Amino acid sequence: MIKTELLTKKIVLILFFVCFSVANTVCLAEINTRITDIRFWQSPEEAQIVLDLTKPPKVSEVNLIKDGSLNFNIKNCSFRPGRQRYPLQNPFLEVLTVQEVDKDMSVNVNFKTPTGVQAKTFVLPANERKSDRIVIFLREPAAKQKQKRDAELAEVKQLKSENVKIVVIDPGHGGEDPGTSGHGIIEKNHVMAMGKLVKAYFDRDKKFKAVLTRDGDYIIPLDRRRQIAEHLGADAFVSLHYNYNNTKSIRGIEVYYESPKGAVGEAERLVAEIENKVDFADSQMPSTIDTALSKKELIEKQAKIMYKSKFLAEKTEIKLANTIQELPSRGVKRAGFKVLHSLAMPSILVEFGYVSNSKDASILKNNINRSKLAQSIYAGVSDFLLSEIEDGIDEGYIAYCVHADAKKAAAEKAERLRKERAAKKAKLKKQQDELRKKNELLRKKAASLYKVKSGDTLSKIASKKRVSLNSLLKANALKLNSIIKIGQILNIPEK
Ligand SMILES: [Zn+2]
Repeated sequence: MIKTELLTKKIVLILFFVCFSVANTVCLAEINTRITDIRFWQSPEEAQIVLDLTKPPKVSEVNLIKDGSLNFNIKNCSFRPGRQRYPLQNPFLEVLTVQEVDKDMSVNVNFKTPTGVQAKTFVLPANERKSDRIVIFLREPAAKQKQKRDAELAEVKQLKSENVKIVVIDPGHGGEDPGTSGHGIIEKNHVMAMGKLVKAYFDRDKKFKAVLTRDGDYIIPLDRRRQIAEHLGADAFVSLHYNYNNTKSIRGIEVYYESPKGAVGEAERLVAEIENKVDFADSQMPSTIDTALSKKELIEKQAKIMYKSKFLAEKTEIKLANTIQELPSRGVKRAGFKVLHSLAMPSILVEFGYVSNSKDASILKNNINRSKLAQSIYAGVSDFLLSEIEDGIDEGYIAYCVHADAKKAAAEKAERLRKERAAKKAKLKKQQDELRKKNELLRKKAASLYKVKSGDTLSKIASKKRVSLNSLLKANALKLNSIIKIGQILNIPEK
C-alpha cells in the first residue's frame, strides 16, 4: 500500500498537449472573448471541466506550479463574477479557481489535481450546438487504472469458469454529447435509464453478467465503448440509441449490425495501424488487435463475427418487434457504426424509435413500455447466447471484399495507365520541343551563313541580307577592298 502511494507520488503529472486556437489577433487592451459558463463532468475514471466562451480563446501554455497546481491564462478575456473558487469533492480535481487579471485583461485558470492524475487541456471550436470551449480533461493515475483492469480480469476469469455469459450494454452518448432530442426526450438520459433496466434483467439471471459501458452522465469515446467489452471478453455487445429524422412521419425500431462497407473501412484502418506499428499508449484498454493478422485473415475474422452479429440482430429484433403493438419495427439493418467494428464479439446497435415522431416519443416516454423493451433486449440477446449457433462466415461480406478488391485493382490499373499515358505524352512533348529548338538553331545558323555566288559584291550581299555593309565586313574580318570568291562562306551578322 505504502509502496504504491510512493510510486504514485513519483509519477509526474503529465501534460499531454495544449492546442492553441487560431484566434484573431486583437489589440492588447481589447476584450475578445468572455466565459459564459463552467461545467463539470465526471465518470468513474475521468473528469472534464468545460469553459464555454463567446469567441475562440487565446490560451497560454499550461504551467505546473510547485504544489501540483496547474495554471493557464486566457488572453483578452473577461469573466463576469471576477473571481470564482470551486472546491470539489472529486477524485481528479481538488479545487478550481477562475479569476480575472485586470492589468493583463486576461483570465487566469488555476486547478489542483491529486498526484498522478493525468491532465490534458484543449480548445474546441464552436459547432451548431455549442460555443467555443476550453476543455480540461483529467484521468485517474495509470497505476490505479491498471489495478482496476486487473481486478476486472480476475472477476471475468472466475465468471467464465462458471460458464457465465458476459453482456456489455452501451447506453449511447452522455455528458457533453446529449445525442438526439425531441418531444421532451433527451437521448443520453433515456438510453441510460434503458441500459440500467436491461442490465437489471440480465442480472436477475445467474447465467449472465451484464456490464454497462457508462453508468452516469459522462462521455466515453466510441472506440473505448467496444474496447471495454473486448477487455472483459464479452459474449455480446449491445449499444442503445434513440433515433431522429427530419421527416417526422418516419418511425419504428431498428436493429443494426456491421455493414460490409464499414467493415472494409475498419479492416483497412487496422491493416494500416498494424503496418504503421501504431502503439496504443494513449488507450486505456490494451489493444486486442493481433498484429500478426494479414488483411485476408482480418477479413475472415470479421466475416465470422458478422455472421454471429446477424443472428444476434435478428433474434433481438424479433423480440423487440413483438413487444409493443403500436411500436412498429423497421427491421434489421446494416451500418458502419464505429461501436460495431469489434473483431472480438457479436455487436448490435438498437434504435428504440424516433424521438422526432410524436407516437414513438409518447410510447418511449412510458415507463411500462420502456421496461417491456428492456426485457425484450434481454430475451433476444439471451436467446442468441443460449442457442447453439454454429460457426459460419458472412459470405456476402467476403463477396463484397472480393468485389471491392477487384474494383480497387481496376481503379489502380486505370490510374497506372493514366500515369503511363501522361508520362508518354510528356516525353513526346519534350522530344518535340527539343527538335523544334534544334531546328530553330539550324535555321538561325543557316540564316547566319551565306555562300557567295557569281556576280555578288559585298555591298550587294549586305543589301540582300538587309544588314549594313560595315557590320558585314566586321563579321567576316574583311575590308572594303577585300576580294571575295564564288563559293566562299560569309557570316551574316544579326540585324
Ligand atoms: Zn444515438
